[in-house]
Amino acid sequence: MKLHIVGSSGTFPAPGRPCAGYLIEHGNTRVLCDAGPGTFMSLPVDPDSIDAVVISHQHADHCSDLLTIFHAWTYRPEPRVDVPVYGPASVLERVMAFVDKGQEDVFAGTLRYQAVAGGDEVTIGDFTVRFADMYHSVPCVGSRWEAGGRSLFYTGDTGPGGDWREAARGVDLMLSEASYQEWNKNPEYPMHLSGAEAGEIAREVGARKLVLTHIPPYLDSALSVHEAEVAFDRPVALAVPGVGFEV
Ligand SMILES: [Zn+2]
Repeated sequence: MKLHIVGSSGTFPAPGRPCAGYLIEHGNTRVLCDAGPGTFMSLPVDPDSIDAVVISHQHADHCSDLLTIFHAWTYRPEPRVDVPVYGPASVLERVMAFVDKGQEDVFAGTLRYQAVAGGDEVTIGDFTVRFADMYHSVPCVGSRWEAGGRSLFYTGDTGPGGDWREAARGVDLMLSEASYQEWNKNPEYPMHLSGAEAGEIAREVGARKLVLTHIPPYLDSALSVHEAEVAFDRPVALAVPGVGFEV
């Protein structure tokens, strides 16, 4: 299994750093997981080779490029048809607000949206993907990816609360958000993790490798990695666009 970082910026993109977007590949199957602003134009592969899209939640920094994908795959001489998209029902509602009245069937013809929630499991080509309800301000699904005897867990956006940790138990690679650092944690919005919390949780669930993502452009990502390494008690990697990880 291979994880390509397409975008990793938290909250808003920066030059050369799209928001959340991860290409997960195994065998002949390619899936784009999250489609934040800038991810579609930064894909390292032919977009038409993508078999499916998974969206964690409705916040724009995770899903707005679904509209770009809809346009790119629809309004051209030979449109793509029936590409499966998985995510919370609330994502579809939000995205459809941008689609012109009367075009709903056109959207559905290109992107076949299937609503999922925690506990659901789907098969996408060579992958089995199991979803978990995360602890965020809107419905958000984390996803556990299994293929070829390897496993990856992606947190989407989440705080340390909720009961999602079991879904990440024993994974080979945990791709975790780290929106905060210890100094700027917001007790009034405990819906994100700090690097230290990501490290603590990765250690608790027995993840073999931890990769941090969703760090906003105004934070020094080296400090996030340092805080995570202290808590994880092992080296921690940073999600940088263009970088790939063998899982
Ligand atoms: Zn969010």
